[in-house]
Amino acid sequence: MIILLHCFTCVKIMANKWEADLGLLKVEYTKGDALESLGLKCYCCHQILLAHMDLIEKVLNYPSLEK
Ligand SMILES: [Zn+2]
Repeated sequence: MIILLHCFTCVKIMANKWEADLGLLKVEYTKGDALESLGLKCYCCHQILLAHMDLIEKVLNYPSLEK
């Protein structure tokens, strides 16, 4: 859905890295090189960007249950 605000383990800010990561991947960076160039060296931070899926556009297609 929405990227985590910070890493739960080391409390590094992650929310501002998602768009930059997507931009680096579009210019042919490998995922590992993109993570390194964003200054992410810990595995705890890597897993957040590696496991994140941007599903908000798909979820918005379903109607709300509140009426
Ligand atoms: Zn971390």
